This record gives sequence, structure tokens and C-alpha cells, in this order.
Amino acid sequence: MAVLPIRTFGDPVLRVPAREVDDIDDRVRKLVQDMIDTMYDAPGVGLAAPQVGVSRRIAVFDAQDGDGARVLINPTLEEVGGDDWIYEEGCLSIPGHYWEIVRPAYARVSAIDLDGRPVTYQGEGLLGRVLQHELDHLDGVLLIQRLPARERRRAFATLRREGMGLSE
Ligand code: ZN
Repeated sequence: MAVLPIRTFGDPVLRVPAREVDDIDDRVRKLVQDMIDTMYDAPGVGLAAPQVGVSRRIAVFDAQDGDGARVLINPTLEEVGGDDWIYEEGCLSIPGHYWEIVRPAYARVSAIDLDGRPVTYQGEGLLGRVLQHELDHLDGVLLIQRLPARERRRAFATLRREGMGLSE
């Protein structure tokens, strides 16, 4: 078990799109296991590779539905839908802060798993939310960028006051 340090707001790795994984080799398998350990240790319900400083399209999540930890490699957001849903959302890279973020309730994501097999996850509630949040991370998007402009400016100002992050 290895718990990795989690990069926090202001770290440039969180703001760039991550690259596709070409080969699922031992390094990728080790990284995924460490990401799962790190997610549970935090504790959190999802973690994307850029959050541990690796700019690759890999994420893990546990939507607390009894299915345990799931792995997404090279995921694609196939569909979002349903009603807009306001949920008090946090992020392990912005510890101690929560914002009411509006996102579609439903999401469907396709990816490959650690064995290279195609997988699809879909649903509403926490599952739909965590899928959208983690896929945003792989595109270099943080949850505060999902806030309306005024609230976003206020959030950035708060974080800057706390010494987190240097620029938008
Ligand atoms: Zn996050």
C-alpha cells in the first residue's frame, strides 16, 4: 500500500489536459493501486491521476454503491442528461472547501479497465456526479470552474487569501 501526496489547487498539473494511456503496463497497474489506496486514505470517492502529479487519463472512484473501487483508463464522457442537480461538491485537491455545483444528474462514461477491456458506467446521484468530476480533472478543469462567474471569482479570491493558488 502506498499513499501518494495529493497535489493541491495552484499546482499547474491540475490545469492541463492529461494524455491518453498507450500501454497498460506494470507502472500503470502500480499507479492505479496507489491511487485507490490514496483515495481511501484521504478519504474520498474519486481521484484522477493529475491529482497525484501524473498527467495521464486515469481515474479511480468508489460511488459508495457497494461495488468498491472502479478504474477508468482513457475514459470518454458519452452522455450527460436528466435534470440539473445542485450538490455540495468538494475536491481532494481543494481540501476543506465545498461549493454548490450544478451539473446534470445523469452521466454515462465508457473507458477501459486494467485488463484493457471496455467498461461503461452510468447513473445518477453520486455515481453521475463523481464521473463528471473526475473526467473534468482529466481535462484540467476544477470544480470551481463550474461555478457561475461571480461565485467563481469569489471562490478564487477566498483561495488566494488562504495562500492557495497563484492565478486563475
Ligand atoms: Zn477533484
